[in-house]
Amino acid sequence: MNQHFDDVSEHDISDDSLFGSAVSVTSRVAAKTTREGYEMSFQCGNCGNPCKVVLDWPEVVAISVGKLPHPQNWYLQSGRVVPNLLCRGCRRSVSPGVTPEEAQRAVSAGVHARFISLPDVQMIRQRYGS
Ligand SMILES: [Zn+2]
Repeated sequence: MNQHFDDVSEHDISDDSLFGSAVSVTSRVAAKTTREGYEMSFQCGNCGNPCKVVLDWPEVVAISVGKLPHPQNWYLQSGRVVPNLLCRGCRRSVSPGVTPEEAQRAVSAGVHARFISLPDVQMIRQRYGS
């Protein structure tokens, strides 16, 4: 496996958690691919406020090849790539995050649905060095 994150320590990527199985939090997340990207709807775990996050296609492609998208702030949590988002209700950090495997499936679905073209996917992958 030659994928790696630039921003994390060797320890974080050596335990294979990055490509591990999805955690249970995803069961409460409704995710779909749209023209804009990968849309996740869920409830804030703290206050129950409905939240929605849309990762645009370049971000989804970056995650699918095991990279942290830039220039936004992202971090790794239990093998999931999580954007820095605050709940509008309680201002606590919320986001279910996305695993590279989920992002890969989203990219496949997006290409299939013509939301993003294969040449565009390849161009973005190249930009991330994959
Ligand atoms: Zn909240």
